[in-house]
Amino acid sequence: MSAELDTTIPETARRSVVVVLIAIAVVAVSSLFFVSLSYFKSVEIEEAESRLSLYARSLNETIERFQHLPSVLSRYPIVIAGAAATSNRRLNEQLASFSEEAGLEAIYLMDRTGLVLAASNFNAPQTFVGQNYGFRPYFKNALEGERGQFFGIGATTGRPGYFVSEAVRTPLGEVTGVIAIKLDMSELQKAWEEGGERVFVSNRDGVIVLSSNPEWLYQTLSELSANQQAAIAAGKQFGNEPLLAFDWEQASPTTVSVGDQEFIYASTRAKRLGWNVHYLLDNRRGYERAALTTIIFGGVLSVLLAFATFQRSVRIKAALRASQADRAQLLAANAEINLAQKELARRSKLAALGQLSASVTHELGQPISAMRNYLTAAELDGDRMSGKTLDKLSAVVSRMENITRQLRFFTKPGDEALEIVSLQDVLAGVMTLMEHDVEEAQVHLEQDIAARPVRVFGNRLRLEQVLVNLMRNALAALETIEAPVLSVSIREDAGRAILRISDNGIGFGGRELQQMQEPFHTTRASGDGMGLGLSITAEIVKEHSGFLTAHQNEKGGADFEVSIPLAEEIA
Ligand code: ADP
Repeated sequence: MSAELDTTIPETARRSVVVVLIAIAVVAVSSLFFVSLSYFKSVEIEEAESRLSLYARSLNETIERFQHLPSVLSRYPIVIAGAAATSNRRLNEQLASFSEEAGLEAIYLMDRTGLVLAASNFNAPQTFVGQNYGFRPYFKNALEGERGQFFGIGATTGRPGYFVSEAVRTPLGEVTGVIAIKLDMSELQKAWEEGGERVFVSNRDGVIVLSSNPEWLYQTLSELSANQQAAIAAGKQFGNEPLLAFDWEQASPTTVSVGDQEFIYASTRAKRLGWNVHYLLDNRRGYERAALTTIIFGGVLSVLLAFATFQRSVRIKAALRASQADRAQLLAANAEINLAQKELARRSKLAALGQLSASVTHELGQPISAMRNYLTAAELDGDRMSGKTLDKLSAVVSRMENITRQLRFFTKPGDEALEIVSLQDVLAGVMTLMEHDVEEAQVHLEQDIAARPVRVFGNRLRLEQVLVNLMRNALAALETIEAPVLSVSIREDAGRAILRISDNGIGFGGRELQQMQEPFHTTRASGDGMGLGLSITAEIVKEHSGFLTAHQNEKGGADFEVSIPLAEEIA
């Protein structure tokens, strides 16, 4: 017997394991990606906010620096005088030197109509002197006594700038003119352009006034109302710029898209003018960082997983191999046991055969040598056989018959027909055989026989053998008893036929039926019994679906009971 050692895992099981592993890997990798993306997004948002505050600060500082300069200048006597003078040559020079020192594009003085009386750029080809800026809101505000602040494209120069203005008053407080400065914002704009980041500033109306990307300049974040458009036109704030709509969309407070590109977005208010500073950070970086993290972590995780899976499969294979080796050992052991069993059976058969032949040889040996003795004696007596010798020979022959009859039982039953037999008939048949023996032994025979035939389904001859065996045993047990009694009873009880043989003989001496019905178990002298009677009896009873019981009775003798189902019960 050989077992095929199959250490492979079944294909379907392996396939489902692979599917589950792939599913786990996909879920793990995508969760890893999204978690790291949200982490890097929050990092980028923080970064955008910190960059934004930097830009806002630099813008605020630039604007703030010159907030008070016009107010200071307006108190200068030369300026106050200049507002009333017709020639301002000295003032022009003064303003030019101031402007240069302060790093301003221009400082200029206007009369009450907005006409520029003196300007720092009096010498430049595009001088303000002689121009009228009465239309500018900052002029109007200053004239009304407020500080004017304004961002716009220069009406004369075409350059964008931040204007601050203040009223010029006589010592009596009468407003005689307006002094204004123009701060060139193109420096800041250039610095932002060169910075390589994306930042822009929108004014109160939502028009982009400063931007790191010059293309975005003067585009509007939201649509302008008619009033807004009119005010812008009146103040000539953005020259001839068409003020197109800025192509952007805000998806969330922290994400916007400009054109097709998505950005992390942050914005804050500037200190002055109702301006807002906006900062955009390319969000591709967040995706790249998340992807990189996923690849690194995912790679490490995959390697670990693959290693763990490999180790597990190695362990499973080892366990499988071990269990298959055990199984093979078990099979081998089983085969050995089978062989040993067969050998045992063969040997016990041989032993039984040996015992039987010894028994048969022994049992038949005695009568044969007796016969030889009788025949020799007859020969010596001149070949004449006396009646006495013949009697002896016939006794020997009947003993031999007795032995061979018992042995015949062990030949196959053949086709002895089964029929309905009454136990009364069986007893009658047996009594014709046994009557003589019972009388000779001087045994008192008691019979308790049911009047109604007690019928069973069976073989008459074999049932007779049961009764003969049991009666012979009883007679043998009664041999040494003084008032020997043999009782036979036939009756019905609860659907069964009961045959009972009792004696007041020597009894069992503490032995059990099991022991007594072992083949070759006998207490009788050689020649009287082979120890097969009870085992044959038990076998026949079993053939008839019955059972044999035995126990010692109160007189010290034996009670044997045969119980067989009634034929009526079977039918
Ligand atoms: P055998 O009669 O040849 O000895 P049996 O198998 O018929 O063989 O009986 C086995 C043994 O059982 C007997 O030798 C005897 O010791 C015991 N036995 C059987 N019947 C009786 C009985 N009625 N009373 C006492 N002992 C008995």
